[in-house]
Amino acid sequence: MSRKLFALLLSEIKLLRIVCKSRECGAVLEIPASRLDVQPDGVTKCSRCGETLAAGGLDNPFSLLARAAVAFKRYADKTDVEFVVPDEG
Ligand SMILES: [Zn+2]
Repeated sequence: MSRKLFALLLSEIKLLRIVCKSRECGAVLEIPASRLDVQPDGVTKCSRCGETLAAGGLDNPFSLLARAAVAFKRYADKTDVEFVVPDEG
C-alpha cells in the first residue's frame, strides 16, 4: 500500500510555534529557529495567560529542544533529522 508523506528536515525549520493548551487560552508563542540558541533555562510562561508551560532547569523541554537543534546545526555537514508526517487525506 502506498501513501503520501510530508517530510521536513530539521535544518528547514525556520519558526517554532508553541501553543498554550491552558484552559481556553490557545495563545501561540513564535520562536524563530535562528534564536533557539538564546532560549533560557528558566521557567517558561505563556505571555497571554501567564500559565507555567514548563518548569525551569535542565529538564525544561524548550531548552532541551533548543540545545538539540543547535547541536545538530554544528553537524549540519554530516547529518540532518527528517520529520515525516503521513498525509491521511
Ligand atoms: Zn496561555
